[in-house]
Amino acid sequence: MHVVSVQDFAEWRAKARPLLAGDVPPAQVVWNASDGQSGLFDDTPPPAGVRVVSINKDFLPLAENVALHRDGGKWALLYHAAYRLSHGEPHLLKLATDPLVHALAMMEKAVKRDAHKAKAFIRFRSIGDDTFVAWHEPDHLVLRKIGPFFARRFSDMNWSVFTPDESMHWDGETLSFGAGGDKNLVPQDDAQEALWKEYYRATFNPARIKIKMMKSEMPVRYWKNLPEAEIIADMLDEAPERVQAMLRYSQEIPDSAEPFVPESRCLEDLRHAAAGCEGCPLYKPATQTVFGEGAPDARLMVVGEQPGDEEDKQGHAFVGPAGQVLDAALKEVGLERRKLYITNAVKHFKFLRNQAGMRLHRTPTQKDINACLPWLDAEIEALKPTIILGLGVTAGKALFGPSFTLHGQGGRWHPKGEAQGRVTWHPSAVLRAPDAAEKEAIYREIVENLRIAASAAKKDGE
Ligand code: SF4
Repeated sequence: MHVVSVQDFAEWRAKARPLLAGDVPPAQVVWNASDGQSGLFDDTPPPAGVRVVSINKDFLPLAENVALHRDGGKWALLYHAAYRLSHGEPHLLKLATDPLVHALAMMEKAVKRDAHKAKAFIRFRSIGDDTFVAWHEPDHLVLRKIGPFFARRFSDMNWSVFTPDESMHWDGETLSFGAGGDKNLVPQDDAQEALWKEYYRATFNPARIKIKMMKSEMPVRYWKNLPEAEIIADMLDEAPERVQAMLRYSQEIPDSAEPFVPESRCLEDLRHAAAGCEGCPLYKPATQTVFGEGAPDARLMVVGEQPGDEEDKQGHAFVGPAGQVLDAALKEVGLERRKLYITNAVKHFKFLRNQAGMRLHRTPTQKDINACLPWLDAEIEALKPTIILGLGVTAGKALFGPSFTLHGQGGRWHPKGEAQGRVTWHPSAVLRAPDAAEKEAIYREIVENLRIAASAAKKDGE
């Protein structure tokens, strides 16, 4: 029997590796959890002489999230999964009904949800000298997961967040972590609090006054740390009609991918993170996130609208009928698809089911586009294309703003950050065109714009 003490994910990885390499079955390992978090994302090389064990790449992000769960049994579950993955079950994670996979998925979901709540509910209070502090009591050990988000959002402030387990600190340049704190160390009232109350009054989100919804969106245990909780009773008296109207609005939350976008600007990291995006309601009925794909050094980025039925099933962009039109146009221009980067403005398939159960495409609204925009922006930042070709008006609105129209601004160059962009028809317009002449005309415009974009990207790279 092996008795192993472990504090954090890095230590678990380091200790699990030789056990897996030695074929030690899960039943022969007792994992003792102890408190504390450190070096979570270290990639420690295996000790000399220890066999390298390969595990499905999807396990790592899952394990990183599960490692933040408060339940100390997580280490044994992770080892069990790692053992099965490395001992004849490489596709274990695809078996959603497997009790172990299900348990890990539930733990990951709880951690992600807790991180999301933390991003929404942490409130800073001023302690002078442009320094702010916040107190938060998360269900899980999510501080390190949310740290980069706050560092990005409040990059020009000095701030600290204290939890009972640990604390994090930002000095304008560096994010650091320390021991847990005491709620009494964090001031409970200041000018910021008054501002928060005003802000809350002004932007009043009625999900917070429907008690059941409040409990789900804003867990009761957080209320005591939120300045605005004090004014909820007053607001209930003051604005019953407004409350009803706003309740309808509240059902539309969440409305942005931003809390899910990691700090990293590596396309692979973004892809992994986007797989778990719940930034707007579109993820619920869809099968999966369809993220961009292609050469990480591509100069030409092609942006479509959203995945269709086939893309949603396969998890790849432009693999359905519109993709075939695009492939034909690319071939005509002599562009190899693998040398481009192809993505969509919205990463989940938006559809309606008809009575026969068929999924019918619905055009994304501006709200859908805005919600998903942080992913497109992050892809552009990561890829740094010199030329961006938008396909369809949805891509145009995502790239150049809500007032974009194909007739008004299509087929011309517009600056997009460091890149130059232009927009033409979406290939599905060829399929929808009423007659052969119009199909041909639209197709020719797509080919011509591809040719111009390819030539500009080539010139730019010379
Ligand atoms: S459509 Fe975009 S924002 Fe909405 S859940 Fe999917 S990836 Fe997230």
